[in-house]
Parts: sequence; structure tokens; C-alpha cells
Amino acid sequence: MKKKVFIIGSGFSSLSAACYLSKSGYDVHVFEKNNSLGGRAAQFKANGFTFDMGPSWYWMPDVFERFFNDFGKSSKNFYKLKKLNPAYRVIFDKENQIQIGDNIDNISSQFEKIEKGSGEKLKKFLKESKENYDLAVTNMLYKMPGKSIFELINSKTILKVNLFFTNIKNDIEKRFKDSRLRSVLQFPVLFLGAKPSNTPAFYNFMNYADFGLGTWQPKNGFYDVVKAMVSVAEENGVVFNTNSEINKIEIEKKQVKGIYVNGELQKCDILISGADYHHTESLLEERYRQYSESYWNNRTWSPSSLLFYLGLNKKLSNLNHHNLFFDTDFDKHANEIYTNPKWPSNPLFYLNITSKTYNHTAPPGHENCFILIPLSTNLEDSETIREKYFKIVLDRIKRISGNDIEKHIIYKRSFCVSDFKETYNSFGGNAYGLANTLMQTAFLRPKLQSKKVKKLYFSGQLTVPGPGVPPAIVSGKLVSDIIINNERTF
Ligand SMILES: Cc1cc2nc3c(=O)[nH]c(=O)nc-3n(C[C@H](O)[C@H](O)[C@H](O)COP(=O)(O)OP(=O)(O)OC[C@H]3O[C@@H](n4cnc5c(N)ncnc54)[C@H](O)[C@@H]3O)c2cc1C
Repeated sequence: MKKKVFIIGSGFSSLSAACYLSKSGYDVHVFEKNNSLGGRAAQFKANGFTFDMGPSWYWMPDVFERFFNDFGKSSKNFYKLKKLNPAYRVIFDKENQIQIGDNIDNISSQFEKIEKGSGEKLKKFLKESKENYDLAVTNMLYKMPGKSIFELINSKTILKVNLFFTNIKNDIEKRFKDSRLRSVLQFPVLFLGAKPSNTPAFYNFMNYADFGLGTWQPKNGFYDVVKAMVSVAEENGVVFNTNSEINKIEIEKKQVKGIYVNGELQKCDILISGADYHHTESLLEERYRQYSESYWNNRTWSPSSLLFYLGLNKKLSNLNHHNLFFDTDFDKHANEIYTNPKWPSNPLFYLNITSKTYNHTAPPGHENCFILIPLSTNLEDSETIREKYFKIVLDRIKRISGNDIEKHIIYKRSFCVSDFKETYNSFGGNAYGLANTLMQTAFLRPKLQSKKVKKLYFSGQLTVPGPGVPPAIVSGKLVSDIIINNERTF
């Protein structure tokens, strides 16, 4: 008889694990507390607009492709992808903006116009960054379940050991003088959840992901990827249960016996949780937890966010699909997220306008957008404070781009710290898990397999490899490989 695997949550790591394990002959059942699948990549429709609630930057297309190839498919079998050109716009003020092109030659010429000699320096930097990408993502990522330091040591990483002990900020500042170019090159690190001064320079492979591989957009938004993975899983027999909240994990003789789904015990042989790690441990009796509250309180968390999903009855000008408002002090905002957590005095923010690429995500003549302000976790959250920041960002958009958004809002929804906690059981309201700092890299992250409870496993952005959709997909593969290997040896 097939072994029964239960998976808590339906984020990308859970979907990925469900696909790999069902293909390997397990009887897989997914339990999601919310009424739709995809975790933080949820989507909702309102007044003719289609909003992606979470991820919007489709980077590292090779990781998505590799996943589908493992099932004899390609992303093309499920969704249409468009490479964006310009990829995104970085806004320093009204006259001072950079639009990032879709290839290295073009971006190098743009750099050269801003700082003499920087075009060639950029090409050299991206050559190194590509080498790191090939080493880290193409070769190592899939072989690093985070069990020991030895996974990190090989002849190539030894040569790059200095890159683990210098940070990206210093590395970039040594190479480029212009503050705008420095900000553009530090931006990709924000995907790793930590500030650039706290991120090892080895992670500059994210710059190759950005400029080398480009920014893509699925035709119907990121939810196309969720649907595609659900379809692969269902083809392999996975059963999905929504509105199914797990309240407790049942243990017998130090081994998983089952889970309480909406209060009712259901038995399984193996359990994976793709829900936030801290929350999953709270479903266990204290003696079976591996990490203390002080452990979690002392981690470096990725930011939370204040989000506004907006439907506008007007087209916006002087803006692209992805717009980064870097018109305030980057370091000050980063300190207000990580060092001295508080509501930011004058935050950077991101404005996404999906309908700039795909009209059908909004009614004709309308615009579909969302605003994201990165915040520290655990901030006191209220309607009044959300509105205060809404006004701040709308004023800045109006002053810089000339678009008076306020008069044209026909749909508005906000989402912030308390919603992250309530909707996803997220620790402190984090948006994308534990940051990839030096002390939270690889074997130093929470483990994929429980040391205290047999047949209990974890996946997702709080484990290895880290935050973001591509790492979550890899995380599901890594945990499946461990399970398949462990079960073979039993
Ligand atoms: C606003 C935002 C923007 C982002 N932008 C990007 C981006 O542009 N590009 C990118 O690559 N990444 C981005 N990310 C990060 C990316 O979305 C995440 O890293 C990834 O989706 C996490 O997947 P996961 O599998 O770890 O789990 P999650 O997506 O967190 O899924 C966990 C699931 O578990 C469920 N759950 C929790 N508790 C229980 C319970 N007790 N019972 C049952 N189910 C439970 C939750 O409801 C949730 O569905 C963004 C994230 C956010 C929030």
C-alpha cells in the first residue's frame, strides 16, 4: 500500500514537494487553511481587476523550467511568459530616473552614461556574478539540504571564501561611485530579506538573475504558476483540501501519528509542513519543538509589508510595470526595518502596474496596481496608520510622476502586519521568511527534518535555501529527496 504523506499549507514549497512525492509513488494530501491554493501567491478578483497578492517579480526562469522539466513538461505547457523591456524603472526624483533594459549590453551603456568607465566595470561584475550563479544556483542549490557545513565546501567555493566575509554593500561601493548605480545594484539583495550591509557578497549572483536573466511576467499573473503546479500535482494524484486548518500535530512514541484538521484527527505516515516553521512548532507539544521562542525572536526576519491593491479608472503615464521609488534615504529606511524597528519616517516603496504589460488584468481604459512599502515585522498596525502612509506615497507619486491617483480609485484594499499573521500564521507578520544573512545561510537555517519527531519534515522560506518563489520550489524538492532517501533506507 502507498505511504500516506500529509502536507500542511499550499505555498510553492508545499506544491513542489507534493509533485515530487506523488510522482515517486506516495499518496499525497495537501491541507490549506485558506480557501485558495498558493500560499502567499494568492490572487483575488474584484470589480473586473485581477490582483496578485504576493510575488510579482518572476526572476530565475531557469528554476521554474527545471521544475517543469522534472515532470516532462515546460512552463510553455501551462502559461505564456513575456520578458519585460524595460524590466523596471528606478525613480530617484522627477528628472532623475533609470529604466533598466532587458540585456547586459543595453544596461552597460546606460551605466556608462551616468558614470564614465562603469559600463565595462558592470560587465566584469556580472561575469563574476554569473560564475556565482552557475556555482550556487545551477550546481549547489539542489544538493544543499542544509545538513552540514561540508555541503558548502568544494574546490570552487574555497576560492570564493572571501565573498562570504565581505558584504554586498562594500563590494558594490568599491566598484561604483555614483549613488544611483549603487542603489540599483543593491536592489536585488532585498529579495533575500536582509539589508545589503548584512548580506555576504557571494549573493551578488542575484545581480546576474536581475540583469542577466531578466524580469518576466506570466500572462495572468503569478497565479498562473500556482495553477500549473497544482495541475502537475493533480495529474500525479495529489488530493487538495482547502478551508482545512491544522490545529495540532499528534505524536505517538516520538513519531508523527497524524494531524487535527479543523479539530478532527486524520492519520498519516509522513508529515511535511510548508506553513511558517515557528507556527508549525506551535502545533507540537513543547517537548517536541526544536527551537525556543528566544531563538525565533533573535533571528533576522525579512520585512513585513504594507500593501495597497488599487483599481483605477484611468491609465497612468510616466510609469512602467515595475517602479521602484528610491527617492528617499535607502540606509535610513533599512535601519528602520532591521536596526531600530519602527514605522519608517520616509519609506522607499514599490509600485506595480500589471495592466501596463497585460491589459486584461483591468477593465478597458483602467489600471491595475499595487503599492508595497517594506516594514519591520511586529509593528503595531491600524487603519489610521495605514491611511497615513497611503497619503504619503500618493503625494510622492503625484509629485514625481504627475499622476493624481486619489481621484481615480474605484477599488482599494490594504494588507499589512496583522493580515500576514492572521492569513498565513506568519511569525511577526513577516512577508517572506528568514533573511539570508551569513549566520542564516545553508546549514545555519532551521532544518528540513525534525531532530525530535520521526517522520516530521519542514519546507518553505524559513528553511533552506531561503526566501522567494524559486527557493521555495527548490525547498520542496530538497525535502522530497530527503524523504525518498530516508524511506528507502528504512
Ligand atoms: C507581498 C509579497 C511580495 C513578494 N514578492 C516576491 C517576488 O516578487 N518574487 C519572489 O520570488 N518572491 C516574492 N515573495 C516571496 C514568495 O512569495 C515566498 O517566498 C513564497 O511564496 C513562500 O512559499 P512557501 O512555500 O514558503 O509558503 P507560503 O506561501 O507562506 O505558504 C504557506 C501556507 O501555509 C498555510 N498555513 C499556515 N498555517 C496553516 C495551518 N495551521 N493549517 C493549514 N495551512 C496553514 C498558509 O495559509 C499558506 O498558504 C513575496 C512575498 C510577499 C508576501
